[in-house]
Amino acid sequence: MNGSLRSPTSEGADRRNAALSESLVLAAVIFAACLFGIYTRPLGFLANVWPANAIMLGLLLRRPAMASLPGWLAAGAAYMAADLLTGSTLVKALLLNGANMVGIGAAYAICVRLPKSKLRMEHPASLLDIALASAVGAAAAGIVGGFANPILFGGGVVSGWTFWFATEFVNYVTILPVILSAPRRGTVLPKWEEVQPQISSRLALPVLAVLFSGLAAMVIGGPGAIAFPVPALLWCGLVYPVFPTALLTLLFGLWSLAIISTTYLPGAQGLYDETALISVRLAASLIAIGPIMLAVVMQNRKELLSRLHHLATHDQLTGAANRHAFLENARKLVAGNTPVAVLMIDLDHFKAVNDTYGHAAGDEVLSAFAQRVRACLRPGDAFGRVGGEEFAAVIPKCPKPDAFQITTRIREAVSGTPISLSDGRLIKLTASIGFSLSPETEPLGIERLLASADAALYRAKAHGRDRVEIWELAVPTG
Ligand code: GH3
Ligand code: MG
Ligand code: MG
Repeated sequence: MNGSLRSPTSEGADRRNAALSESLVLAAVIFAACLFGIYTRPLGFLANVWPANAIMLGLLLRRPAMASLPGWLAAGAAYMAADLLTGSTLVKALLLNGANMVGIGAAYAICVRLPKSKLRMEHPASLLDIALASAVGAAAAGIVGGFANPILFGGGVVSGWTFWFATEFVNYVTILPVILSAPRRGTVLPKWEEVQPQISSRLALPVLAVLFSGLAAMVIGGPGAIAFPVPALLWCGLVYPVFPTALLTLLFGLWSLAIISTTYLPGAQGLYDETALISVRLAASLIAIGPIMLAVVMQNRKELLSRLHHLATHDQLTGAANRHAFLENARKLVAGNTPVAVLMIDLDHFKAVNDTYGHAAGDEVLSAFAQRVRACLRPGDAFGRVGGEEFAAVIPKCPKPDAFQITTRIREAVSGTPISLSDGRLIKLTASIGFSLSPETEPLGIERLLASADAALYRAKAHGRDRVEIWELAVPTG
């Protein structure tokens, strides 16, 4: 039997294995995140950095295969193991992790109902919905935490809820955006040559501004200090992509937990007022929403502009450059790239195609024809639609023998195989090509080269079509 044919049972086994390995990965990550949370507690300032819940929610949303029953069970076991192995009693571990799981479940139930674009942080309102889901998750965890508070810490139910809510909300809102906006596997990263020209020392200015305003906040202090880095963070959102901005705001959140809330709040040294602490933590996470939202809007704007630019420079039917964009590119290529070959390509008897098969079929033919020509050219060559069914190309550093070879290849690519329409009909087609060359000794402008190529094309038509002609002597413009 053919090895590629698989029985349904083996497919089912594969799926089970995949779900199992995803669950194990989730459990390992949760276990590590819990240990991080537990072991940084004594550092004091990190007392309320509990990344496990936000990481779990982020992973469930990024990798739906983890959100299976085995995934939830494995994560629950990891939470319990981390607490029990570090000396918690069973009752304490059950209560704390009960709150964790209820919070994650509630936030997850909202998040899975959001559109994909919001979960991928591509929609300007993404962060509002994520903040809402975080608030619901934090409130739900707070209910369990509120009841746990008198049992575990001898505190009140309401104060337990409030503290739990604030801590959970801050963790979700600052960590989730980082996980949701992290680069996806299979994302095509821009090439270094494209990125390099955009990199300058000025790119570091927004980060430096964040550092400087943080420093100013520490020097001046007071309850307003937490807002000092806001303009610099907004600048980051303006300049950087979403993921680095989310990372920077996470660092800002950690910084405000570490420095501002424990040192610079009035009366904070050691015996701080719990309500003021909660207030500062909530403020830090709410401040973080602004710059990330701005980064998402800027990303949207960039994509919109690049779509508009494509529309303004390309022909919609064939995808080739339009006349204006082609001429602009061609002018640049012709200068300093001699010998340059300039081609004019025109379909033979194309009117007959329209007359026989209809205009829509003619459109399909044009688009397929342009694709075949493009495939014969290199990425650095210019190619554009300069008239109804007339296309032009500029090939830099192309001596005469190469130009003959390439134009012949194009001619054969068109006439060699009939074009098949979407309804299955086949249309035999030929094209005529004229080209001119800009000699190394006396470089010519694009206008004269195009006029010469056009004259050569005219000759190819006159000599029976489906052929290539060269115009050796430059035709004067006009
Ligand atoms: P020749 O071999 O001399 O070039 O003959 P031809 O019939 O191709 O003549 P010509 O180049 O003058 O004809 C151009 C035709 O191309 C006429 C026009 O209807 C058709 N055409 C131009 N633009 C489009 C288009 O966007 N779609 C379709 N379907 N037809 C187009
Ligand atoms: Mg024609
Ligand atoms: Mg024509």
